[in-house]
Amino acid sequence: MAQHLLFLKENYPVIFPHEKKSGLSVCLTFDDATFDFYHTVFPLLKKLQMKAILAVPIFPILASTSLSPEKRLKMEPDIAKKSAAFCTWKEIQEMADSPFIEIASHSYSHEDLSKKEVDLDLEILQSKKTLEDKIKTRVKTFIYPYGRCNRRALKKAREHYTYSMRIGSAFNFFSSPLLYRVPCDNYAQISHLFKPKTKVRLFLKTLVCKIRRR
Ligand SMILES: [Zn+2]
Repeated sequence: MAQHLLFLKENYPVIFPHEKKSGLSVCLTFDDATFDFYHTVFPLLKKLQMKAILAVPIFPILASTSLSPEKRLKMEPDIAKKSAAFCTWKEIQEMADSPFIEIASHSYSHEDLSKKEVDLDLEILQSKKTLEDKIKTRVKTFIYPYGRCNRRALKKAREHYTYSMRIGSAFNFFSSPLLYRVPCDNYAQISHLFKPKTKVRLFLKTLVCKIRRR
């Protein structure tokens, strides 16, 4: 992880979406606010002075916990029930107060928002209100659970957020409120993501994504 972050820091501007620059820059996003982010990633980001967006789902977050870090790290973060495997509100507040972390909504219940029966008011609007109430900071970004959305969810997110993000494995031109993310889990070397062949593939995927949305 440290090596991956260092590579990015040395080669690209690592920015929040509103800091868009010309040329290739990187916006780091981490989903779900599991405790390992607070325990391992946040200290690294602070040390390297790098920025990242943390996507928080509301309902599994506890106010605080007395469980030891060791136990919390061992717990499986079962998204379906409340668990100390996630960051607490206290830890989220500490990160929100840091210049290196921007908090995004990751819905209320971590539902797949492309499903018809989902309550979008709860997932998109209420999650924003709850987050803003808790951390006393404006929440500008919504990150779709599982990277999925439909037109209805996209319209709702557009009404309430400056940016929304889904997984598209494509670059962004920062020209629209829907930003595509590239999952990095399968890259043993983060530099592989920036090889010319991969760049061409991601660029072509961007065009496909844009055409599909018309
Ligand atoms: Zn998630």
